[in-house]
Amino acid sequence: MIKFDRYERNLAIGGISKEQQEKLITSKVLVMGVGGLGSGVVMNLAAMGVGQIKVVDSEVIEETNFNRQLIHKYKNLGRAKVMSAKEWVQDFNPDIKVEIDKIKINELNYFNIVEGYDIIVDCFDTYESKYMLNEIALRHKMILIHGGIQGYCGQVTTIVPTKTGCLSCVVQKPAVFNEEPVCSLSPVVSVISALQAQEVLKILTGSGEPLLNKLLMFDGYKSEFKTLGFAKNIACDACNKEEAIYQNILQ
Ligand SMILES: [Zn+2]
Repeated sequence: MIKFDRYERNLAIGGISKEQQEKLITSKVLVMGVGGLGSGVVMNLAAMGVGQIKVVDSEVIEETNFNRQLIHKYKNLGRAKVMSAKEWVQDFNPDIKVEIDKIKINELNYFNIVEGYDIIVDCFDTYESKYMLNEIALRHKMILIHGGIQGYCGQVTTIVPTKTGCLSCVVQKPAVFNEEPVCSLSPVVSVISALQAQEVLKILTGSGEPLLNKLLMFDGYKSEFKTLGFAKNIACDACNKEEAIYQNILQ
């Protein structure tokens, strides 16, 4: 029995019908990483009423996380981030089913993690892991909501395999990743994670205009948004390779 009272104000805005709210409640969303972006995404998904959320992260909470990772409480310092996130959701909206996996995903172990989910939200904190996730999503024809942050800036796009360009279509995958830890400010992280959650809402309910072949860029320093249009690159290594693998899987 679905309890609609909690979501009365979602319906009242006119943008979401009862059927669309029902779709959210019966949807399953996979959140990869529950640091800064993952915190905001999980909190917004829980507020919107997404019925099942899976959170994947291998790390434990450290003192330096608290400047931007809003889902984690100080009492949970040293605990697994996935446990802390699950606890927050259960306290906030006990009707939501939360699955957790304290694991660092790689090409060998990801399959059971992504299987059965409708959509993946990229909240990882390194570009090496983001490009890997991009390829996994392409391979299994899963919609991927990409978000990235650095300093005062961030960006969001929605990748629909075979229909839109992918992360490698926008910026070719580097041959070598040499990454410092991502540093960002809480307001920037909150803006980007909220936009990612909004993309989930639009994709799941079929409402609004998702960021398809559009990279929305936010500059918090100048308080500016810009949209970069892009197209599927027919020479993209990731799109071509993963499409070939997908065809092999089908045979
Ligand atoms: Zn591509």
